[in-house]
Amino acid sequence: MSEAIESVLNETRKFPPPSDFAAQANISSEEQYQQMWTRAKEDPAGFWGDMAANLDWFKKWDTVLDGAMPNTKWFVGGKINLSYNCLDRHLLGPNKNKAAIIWEGEPGDTRVLRYQDLHREVCKFANVLKKLGVQTGDRVTLYMPMIPELAIAMLACTRIGAIHSIIFGGFSAEAVADRNNDAQAKLIVTADAGWRRGKEVFLKSAVDASLEKSPSVQKVVVVRRTGSPVEMVPDRDYWWHDLMKDVSAECDPVQLDAEHPLFILYTSGSTGKPKGVLHTTAGYLLGATMTSKWVFDLKDEDTYWCTADIGWVTGHSYVVYGPLANGATTVMYEGAPNWPDEGRFWELIEKYRVSIFYTAPTAIRAFVKWGDDWPNRHDLSSLRLLGTVGEPINPEAWMWYHKIIGQERCPIVDTWWQTETGGIMISPLPGITPTKPGSCTRPLPGVVPDIVTKDGQTVPGTNGGLLVMKQPWPSMLRTLYGDHDRFVQTYFSEIPGAYFAGDGARRDEDGYYWVMGRVDDVLNVAGHRLSTMEVESALVSHPRVAEAAVVGFPHDLKGEGICCFVSLKGLDGDDALKKELIAHVRKQIGALATPDQIRFAAALPKTRSGKIMRRLLRDIAAGREKTQDTTTLEDYNVLAKLRESDE
Ligand code: ATP
Ligand code: MG
Repeated sequence: MSEAIESVLNETRKFPPPSDFAAQANISSEEQYQQMWTRAKEDPAGFWGDMAANLDWFKKWDTVLDGAMPNTKWFVGGKINLSYNCLDRHLLGPNKNKAAIIWEGEPGDTRVLRYQDLHREVCKFANVLKKLGVQTGDRVTLYMPMIPELAIAMLACTRIGAIHSIIFGGFSAEAVADRNNDAQAKLIVTADAGWRRGKEVFLKSAVDASLEKSPSVQKVVVVRRTGSPVEMVPDRDYWWHDLMKDVSAECDPVQLDAEHPLFILYTSGSTGKPKGVLHTTAGYLLGATMTSKWVFDLKDEDTYWCTADIGWVTGHSYVVYGPLANGATTVMYEGAPNWPDEGRFWELIEKYRVSIFYTAPTAIRAFVKWGDDWPNRHDLSSLRLLGTVGEPINPEAWMWYHKIIGQERCPIVDTWWQTETGGIMISPLPGITPTKPGSCTRPLPGVVPDIVTKDGQTVPGTNGGLLVMKQPWPSMLRTLYGDHDRFVQTYFSEIPGAYFAGDGARRDEDGYYWVMGRVDDVLNVAGHRLSTMEVESALVSHPRVAEAAVVGFPHDLKGEGICCFVSLKGLDGDDALKKELIAHVRKQIGALATPDQIRFAAALPKTRSGKIMRRLLRDIAAGREKTQDTTTLEDYNVLAKLRESDE
C-alpha cells in the first residue's frame, strides 16, 4: 500500500455529549442516527424525498434523484423559491416579528431586521433588480462588506432567479474583474467602503477599476456605508437608498425549477486557481436546512452566530440560508475580532446572549495567542454549542476551545465540508456523538464516504488515504460555471466512480474520520507518507507554539525533509527553543517525523479565508522563487518576511 498515508498522531481523549444537551437534541439517540444513515445509503431517493417535506414547494417533484455522478439532478419537476423558504413562510406564524438578522457594525452601530422587515427589504430590492433589467438566469456580482444589504441582495436574487456570485470584500479589482468575466455578470452591487480594524476598505473604487476589464457589467448599485466620497458614473451607477425609495414592497417569488442555478462561488484558492462552483436551488437549500437542524441543533430560542464572511461558502450556508430557512436568529458582525480590542467576539456573545457559536481554526489559534484573559473577562454562560470549520483543528486548539470558551459544558462540532459540497458532510451530532479532539467524527445521513488508494480500493485498517464520496447528495455542486469538462476532470476523473476533492483522511477503529490535510501537501520522508496536520499538531501541543505549518523540501538522503514554520506565543524564539521543539515532536510522534528545520515566523501565509497556504511555503523551504498563483493570498508582506527568515 505504497500510497497510504501513515498516521503517527496519538490522540485518545474522548468527550461524551453532556446528558442535558443530549436530552433536548434534534437528533437524540444513536439508533435514530443509525437508522437515518442506513436508510439514506440504501434508499437515497426515499430518504431525501421525506426530508424535502421540511421545505415549502409550489409544485411537488416527479423524481427525487435522476442520473448518477457526475451528472445528477434532484427533485426533477419540482417548483420552489429559496427566498420564499427563508422568509415568506415564517410570516404566517409567530416568527413574523422575530429577529431574523441581528447585525453589528465594527464601529458599534447596530440593526435588527425582523422576518417581516427582511421580507419587505428583499421584495423591494428584487423589484429594483428587475427595474435595472436583471432577469431570471442573469448573473449578479455582490462585492460588499458584511452589512445587512448583502443578505438582502442575495435573497433578492434568489427571489427572481438571478444567479449571485459573491466576491469577498477583501479581494482586489483584478480578482473582481476575473470573476465578473468568468460569470459574465450583468450587474454588481457594492458599497462605498466597509470597516476593518478601524480603517475603511474601499470597494466602489475597486469596482470602478474592475469595470475597465469586465465589460459585461452594465449597472452598479452602491450602498452608502461609511460615507466616504465615491465617483458615480451617470446611467451606470445608482445609490441603493435612491433606488429603494419608490419601489413596491410586493414582489411575487418566481416559481423556479428545483435545478435552477442558484449561485456561483469561487473556492478559497488554497491549492491553486479558484474554481467557479455552481450550486442549484432545491438540493442546496435542503442540504443547508437539514444540516443546520442536525449539526447546530437549531431551536426557536437560539441566538446563533457564525463568524464567517458571507464571501465564503460558510457564510452562504450558515450565516444566511441555513439559519433563515429554519426561522432562526442569525448574528452578523462586520468587523475584525481584534477591534477595538481582542475581546470583541466575547463582548458580542455576552451582549446578544449568543447560544451557538461557529468559527474557524485560524481564529481559534489567534484567540490562543492573544491569551485567556480576553474571554475570561466576559460572561459566556449563554453558549451551549461550539463549532469549527475550514481546516483540520489541532487537538490542543480544540482543547483550548473546549475549556476556555465552552467551559467544558458545550459540545464542539468539528464540521468537514467544502465549497463544492454545499453543506456539512462529516461532523459530530452534538446530542449523541462522543467527540475526539481533531476528528470530525462521522458522516451525516446521506453522506457515504470512504478512504481509498489511487486506484479506488478501500484502504484497510486505520491507515490514511484519499477521502472520497461514493454516493451523490442533494447539495453537491452541479458543475464549474462554463466549464463542465473541468468539473468532470477535477472531481470525478482521479478515482473511478467517486467524488474526490483533494483531502487525505483516515478512519479509526470507531469509524471516526480524521482529516489529515490536503493530499498535495503530504510529506514523503524516507519512503513514508506523513500528514502535515499531524506534525503541526505535535508542534502546537508545545506550550510556546501558537500555530505551525509543515512542508516538505528536497532532501538528498530522505527524499523529502521536514521544514516547520512556527509562530510563537509571546517572546521570540532562539536556537535552544528550536532544539526543544525538534525533541518535542520526536517524543510526541516518533523519530520518523523529526523536523529537519524549524523556522520562526511572526505570521504564516494564509488565504483571505484564513487557511494556511502550504504550497507557497514549499517554494520558500526549497529556496525557489515564487511560481504560483498568489491572487488569494491575504498579505503579501508575510511572504517577503518569510523569505528573509533563515533556517
Ligand atoms: P481550493 O479548492 O481553491 O484550493 P479550498 O479547498 O481551501 O480552496 P474551501 O472549499 O473553502 O476551499 O475549503 C474546503 C477545504 O477546507 C476542505 O477540502 C478541507 O481541506 C478544509 N476543511 C474544511 N473544513 C475542515 C475540517 N473540519 N477539518 C479539516 N479540514 C477542513
Ligand atoms: Mg478545495
